[in-house]
Amino acid sequence: MSRQKIAAGNWKMNLTLKKGKELVDKLIKGKRDPKVLTILGVPFTHLDGLQNHLKYVDNIKISAQNCHEQTSGAFTGEVSPQMIKALGVSYVILGHSERRQYFNENNKLLKAKVDNALAAGLKIIFCCGEPLKERKTKNHLKYVRKQIKDGLYHLSAKDMSKVVIAYEPIWAIGTGETASPEQAQEMHLALRKSLNRKFGEISNDISILYGGSVKPTNAKELFSQADIDGALVGGASLKADNFLQIINSF
Ligand code: PEP
Repeated sequence: MSRQKIAAGNWKMNLTLKKGKELVDKLIKGKRDPKVLTILGVPFTHLDGLQNHLKYVDNIKISAQNCHEQTSGAFTGEVSPQMIKALGVSYVILGHSERRQYFNENNKLLKAKVDNALAAGLKIIFCCGEPLKERKTKNHLKYVRKQIKDGLYHLSAKDMSKVVIAYEPIWAIGTGETASPEQAQEMHLALRKSLNRKFGEISNDISILYGGSVKPTNAKELFSQADIDGALVGGASLKADNFLQIINSF
C-alpha cells in the first residue's frame, strides 16, 4: 500500500496574489512533514504567479479550482485545462459542492470536465459529498457512491490513478461542524470498497481526503482513521499557522 498523504488547501475566492505569496512564503519557511504532499487550490489569477513562486519547492503543488470541459473556443470568462497545464500547474479541483450548488454542475458535466482535464495532463481532486437530507435518511453512502460512479467510473485504471477523491459532506463545509472520525471513515471505506470492485488493486493506492471544517484541533484524529489519507481544507488553509499544524498532523 503506497498511498500519498495529502494536505490540500482550497482558498476559494480569497486572498490577493500578494497576500497569497505571503502565505506561501510562511508555508515554505515553516516546518513541514516531508512525507506529506501539500496542494494549494488557488484562484485562476494566481496560478502563474504562484506556480513560478514555487518552482524550486518540493512537496507544494498548485491546483486550479475548476476548468472548462472544452479545449478552447467562444466561452467568455472560462479557462480550459490545457491553459492551466501550459503554466506548469499539475492539479485541478473538480466537483466542489459550491460549484455543484451555485454553478449547476451536475455529474454529467463533471464527467466531461474530468475527461478534458485528464486529456490536458492534469491530475484531479474530485469532490463528492452528501447534503444533510441524504444523511438523515441514511442514503448518504448510496448518494456519494453514485457521484463517483457517474463522474469517474468510465475511466481506465491508469487514468483513475491520476485522481484523488475528496469526500466533503456538504453539511460540514464552512459550518464549523465536522463529520466524526467514525462517520468519515465509514464513507471512506465504502468508497474504497466501491473503487476496489470497479478498478481492483489500484484502489489501495488512491488517496481519499476528508473535507469539512478540518482544523488543527481535529486533524490528527481524522488522519488516524485507516482510510483517511489527508484533507481538503477551506477556512483553515487561509492561515499559515493553522495549515502548517494540519500538514503536521499525520
Ligand atoms: C472546502 O471548501 O473544501 C472546505 C472543506 O471548507 P472548510 O474547511 O472551510 O469547511
